[in-house]
Amino acid sequence: MSKFKTVAVYSYPAYAAVMKSKLESEGIVVLLRDEFTVGVDPFASQAIGGVKMDVHIEDYVKALGIIELNSAQGSGLTNNVKCPNCGKRAVREQQDITAARNFKERLLAVALSMNPFSTAATYRCNHCEHIFNE
Ligand SMILES: [Zn+2]
Repeated sequence: MSKFKTVAVYSYPAYAAVMKSKLESEGIVVLLRDEFTVGVDPFASQAIGGVKMDVHIEDYVKALGIIELNSAQGSGLTNNVKCPNCGKRAVREQQDITAARNFKERLLAVALSMNPFSTAATYRCNHCEHIFNE
C-alpha cells in the first residue's frame, strides 16, 4: 500500500484537472479530493480548502517539479505568446502592479496602467526576463 501526499491545492477544479492530466502523462497517479464538492458549489471551495491534489509519496518530488514547471503563478502562463527577445514560449502575463517583482517592472506597470489607450496585455518572459506588450 502506497501512501499519498498532497502536492498541490487548487481553488478551481478546472485548474486541478489540467494539472492532473499533465502529471498522468508523466506516469504519475493523481488523486483529487473534494473535486466534486467544489465543482457543485464553487463557494464551498474556500470553506473546504479547495481541491487537494494527492500523489504517491514516491512521486511527490517529481510531481512537485512538474507542477512548478507548468503553473508559473497560477493561470498566468501562456504558450500562445512568444518572447520577442529570445523566442521562447515561456511567458506569463503580468497581472498587476503588486505582481511586479522589481522596481523596473513596477515602473512599467504604472506607466502602462496610466496609459488610457493601452488595452494590450503585458507579458514577462520566464526565460530572459524580458517584458513586452502584445
Ligand atoms: Zn525571452
